[in-house]
Amino acid sequence: MQKVIKATNLDQNLSNVISQHKFDKIFILTDEHTEKLCYPLVANNKYIAQAEKIVIPSGEKYKSIETLSNIWMFLSQNDGTRHSLIINLGGGLLTDIGGFAAATFKRGIKCINIPTTLLGAVDAAVGGKTGINFNELKNEIGAFAPADAVLIDSVFFRSLDHKNLLSGYAEMLKHSLLDNQEEWKSIISFDTEEIDYDKLKQLTVNSVLVKERIVEEDPFEKGIRKALNLGHTIGHAFESLSHKKEKPIHHGYAVAWGIICELYLSNKYCGFPKDELYKTVYFIKDNYEGFMFDCDDYEQLYEYMKHDKKNESTEKINFTFLSDIGKIEINQSATKEDIFESIDFLRESVGL
Ligand code: NAD
Repeated sequence: MQKVIKATNLDQNLSNVISQHKFDKIFILTDEHTEKLCYPLVANNKYIAQAEKIVIPSGEKYKSIETLSNIWMFLSQNDGTRHSLIINLGGGLLTDIGGFAAATFKRGIKCINIPTTLLGAVDAAVGGKTGINFNELKNEIGAFAPADAVLIDSVFFRSLDHKNLLSGYAEMLKHSLLDNQEEWKSIISFDTEEIDYDKLKQLTVNSVLVKERIVEEDPFEKGIRKALNLGHTIGHAFESLSHKKEKPIHHGYAVAWGIICELYLSNKYCGFPKDELYKTVYFIKDNYEGFMFDCDDYEQLYEYMKHDKKNESTEKINFTFLSDIGKIEINQSATKEDIFESIDFLRESVGL
């Protein structure tokens, strides 16, 4: 079972986790940025000091079969066995590809994730989805393969640029909406400009635990795991549109706007309280600047939603709504007219 660990002393926590097994060889996977910015923070650990380092390029186009093949080759040529360990030190891309390499090398070896982006920490590093892009399709090849442990330390987030930080924070906002009032209040009152990293670590761990709890209940997304799609049905459409317009936005920004639309629909279909809707909208408006689109883009957005792989058919777009904070309603739908109305609401409320 996957274990999420809040690091109190990174070096010691890491040693404790690794010493629970006897490994014949340890590999640490980094990308070109985490090698420079994050590896030095763990380099003195007695296990890491002996580990073989693998460095891959950063960027979504490298989440590929070629990079995966290079990782397999490195493991194979450097005496990796079924009793070896891979430590993934990086963001979501790296834990996705490193987790998949671990799941497939010698039919599966142990792996530890040390997420270094906020998005990686609260989303990608937990839940067991691993994989690569293939045939120009995102995450086309992969496996459900949870890491054996996930070590969270906000020390890594200090070198993240603000947009990457906020991108991950949007997933934390989502988790808090799925969780409870208290957590949601802490999330929307956190100062994202003057960051208190200790507080951020605690919020991050609470947030990961929401995901872990939901995934444990439904590892293969047959039911309640769909709750994690809150904000993503319309959010993914914004993300795709931004790529089509060649003005790509960070995933979490699209999710934040998706959350506004889907809470608007939650209010309309399930009675989500208006006060909580507006407080969430204010937080997003304050933190996430938009990209320009207009009514002429609505049909295109709708097309993207129809082709979301979470739908059971293109006729019915599947949503997760809330009837209140922490009250999850999965397998919902909305009329095209109401979806367009929710996008109007977003544009009016955040001034897009
Ligand atoms: P990423 O791993 O590409 O990291 C973004 C950028 O930040 C990269 O350039 C990286 O080198 C750099 N970086 C990483 N840590 C840093 C640090 N501490 N300081 C400075 N720079 C740092 O991407 P991401 O945004 O973390 O995650 C996106 C990826 O995660 C996508 O491939 C997506 O498909 C995947 N994902 C997977 C899941 C899942 O459930 N498996 C969930 C969400 C996203």
